[in-house]
Amino acid sequence: VPELPDVEVFRRRVARSSLKQDVAEVSVHDPRMLHEVSEHDLRGFLRGRAMTATHRHGKHLLIDVEGGGVLGLHFGMTGYPVTGTGRPPEGQHVRVVIGLAGARWLALVDQRRLGRVAVAETRADHVSREALGPDALTLSVPELREAVGGARGQLKTTLTDQSRVAGLGNIYADEVLFHAGLDPRGATRDLSDHDHGRLHRQLRRVLELAIARRADPDRLPRGWLLPHREEGRRCPKGRGVVTGYRAGGRRGYWCPTCQGGGADSY
Ligand SMILES: [Zn+2]
Repeated sequence: VPELPDVEVFRRRVARSSLKQDVAEVSVHDPRMLHEVSEHDLRGFLRGRAMTATHRHGKHLLIDVEGGGVLGLHFGMTGYPVTGTGRPPEGQHVRVVIGLAGARWLALVDQRRLGRVAVAETRADHVSREALGPDALTLSVPELREAVGGARGQLKTTLTDQSRVAGLGNIYADEVLFHAGLDPRGATRDLSDHDHGRLHRQLRRVLELAIARRADPDRLPRGWLLPHREEGRRCPKGRGVVTGYRAGGRRGYWCPTCQGGGADSY
């Protein structure tokens, strides 16, 4: 499932290959991917204009379009952008293809089709329509405190709520909490100022390193939780045991020894 680091890698891929060339054609193979925009309007919005810059907010990729307006891409559970030159890709999972001048193209591939293509007047409009909280990579400590303050639920649930902090999903929320030494099942409202600081530091560190390694699980450090997400594995930090838990309907992993769990967690 694409989370913030994956989408940042997607953003760079699009920025390298798809900007500053006029859109020649827009092929929508699956209109169900379009979110509050018709195929006709999407084509009218893009055709004859160039995409000029890329941005990311949480798990959303936002592309400025010449003359005003923003194309918003969300990748759902299985989506990703593919770029190339020549014959555009075919296949049942290719949902939208944006053909560019000079035979280049940008395609959105999405097996489970939970991603979305949207159009907004400005980036701020898109962020507000999607009700996104501040971006997890760039928020400040006070913004983090403000974003999670007042949340009633468990820490893991709060951190993966895109309306509070945008960008974290199941995997990276567990990873950040593991390095911050915080119990994912703990009540968010019990976080101290010190905890907010630790959480912020690890949020930044984990996401930056994951981006630097291109969000490739095989290139992430062995000392991370990610390669050890399995009940009963030895904790990569030491004496603890990796343990499963459930939060918000998702299965997560943590180390009760490193993350301050009481004796009841064994
Ligand atoms: Zn541990």
